[in-house]
Amino acid sequence: MSAVPSRDHLGWGRNLRAEHRVSRPATPQAAAACAAAPGGTRLAHGLGRSYGDVALNPDGALIETRGLDRFLRFDPATGILDAEAGVALAEVLAVLARPEAGGGGWFLPVTPGTRFVTLGGAVANDVHGKNHHRTGSFGRHVLSLDLARSDGRVMTCSPQENAGLFAATIGGLGLTGLILRLRLAMMRVEGLAMEAEDIAFGSLAGYFALAAESEQSWDYTAAWVDCLATGEALGRGIFSRARHAAGQGAAPPPTAPRRRLPATPPLSMVNGLSLRAFNAAYRRRLGSSGRSHAVGGYEKVLYPLDAIGGWNRLYGPRGFHQFQGVVPPADAPAVVAELLREIARSGQGSPLVVLKGFGDLPSPGMLSFPREGTTLALDFPARGPDTLRLLARLEAITVEARGRLYPAKDSVMTAETFRSGYPAAGAFAEWIDPAFSSGFARRVGLRP
Ligand SMILES: Cc1cc2nc3c(=O)[nH]c(=O)nc-3n(C[C@H](O)[C@H](O)[C@H](O)COP(=O)(O)OP(=O)(O)OC[C@H]3O[C@@H](n4cnc5c(N)ncnc54)[C@H](O)[C@@H]3O)c2cc1C
Repeated sequence: MSAVPSRDHLGWGRNLRAEHRVSRPATPQAAAACAAAPGGTRLAHGLGRSYGDVALNPDGALIETRGLDRFLRFDPATGILDAEAGVALAEVLAVLARPEAGGGGWFLPVTPGTRFVTLGGAVANDVHGKNHHRTGSFGRHVLSLDLARSDGRVMTCSPQENAGLFAATIGGLGLTGLILRLRLAMMRVEGLAMEAEDIAFGSLAGYFALAAESEQSWDYTAAWVDCLATGEALGRGIFSRARHAAGQGAAPPPTAPRRRLPATPPLSMVNGLSLRAFNAAYRRRLGSSGRSHAVGGYEKVLYPLDAIGGWNRLYGPRGFHQFQGVVPPADAPAVVAELLREIARSGQGSPLVVLKGFGDLPSPGMLSFPREGTTLALDFPARGPDTLRLLARLEAITVEARGRLYPAKDSVMTAETFRSGYPAAGAFAEWIDPAFSSGFARRVGLRP
């Protein structure tokens, strides 16, 4: 499989761009050959939904995995799926809805806020969903995987076999080799329909009260926060909770976005004015009752951003940064308040703000991001030094609170921040395949 020079590859935040040599293997054998090819460094690349540089390998090679798109087996009696690593979650959802697959009795145990990610990408970032308090991270449901290394070996890894390499590969940021295929346990559900509630809250204390109440009986919980609110209203927003319900709800959502943003606007559409207008309108959408209740399909609940393909271009040619950190539960109310105060004071931010509680189910990966506590995620249009200063401040607050930042969303964290958030980084380094590397790995000192 010969590699060809790429035009360029961008992180999802579109603020990092790099040239690569690209291979697109169509079979596991060809992919294993790419992993073992002589030459410089290489890295797997799935659907490119990571915001910064974990899926970029500037001046090196990328092995695009979408050609590894075969379903190998699904057992409707046990819910166990075998599939190649380039299969997208959207494609898994479409298969699970078929009558021969149990017609809606099985669902992905964990899904991030977009269904356009590959199984391999979901493993390598050990992704989490709005149901983290119920099911933990993605890696907890991976029963085994086949990993191609640069020495030509294909190693089967599981909690029982090559367990060290398995733990390093879950959340291993693609640095331990190329995942060819995996075995994943699906989750039993009553049906594909979803019962969903939205509830307005007026302050951060309101958020924490709703989170504590809802995690007992709702599968999915997360809140939108008005990042411009200050004073008594700091942290106000809308809490969303949902649970699986009997019935189909609606047809499974399509495996490609319904609409696409036609072009990149010359300037960011997200600015102080549009943000203020959006936040005010969004808060009013629940009317005077301040709540709504509905039963329907899961697409609106789990994947609101997937409705428009290429929405990331709304931020214009300079792109955007995402901040996502998690802080331990004891200090979370005070630390989240400090982060929100800092953001409101800066006047930067975007409508895309998510606050969510992580439960205490441990992640199996050495470098997994999810840990018990509260996670705050939000986008910032890239405006140069002002934005970088704000991100550095948010990073410092998170580190001081003994929290950590999410590599999949990050484009700026320092090597010191990474080491402090991921104490297993030293032990992880032993498992890195010497021929694999990424922009992120070099930035945080995992690779020279
Ligand atoms: C709108 C949106 C919402 C999101 N919401 C969430 C969320 O709620 N929770 C969450 O956790 N994340 C979330 N994310 C981030 C996203 O889930 C992760 O970045 C995911 O890993 C992307 O998968 P991908 O297939 O696009 O992989 P890429 O972004 O292409 O790659 C990600 C990493 O996986 C590695 N990799 C990919 N394939 C393989 C393979 N076959 N073998 C070895 N390594 C591989 C790459 O080297 C890279 O390190 C969101 C992203 C977007 C755009």
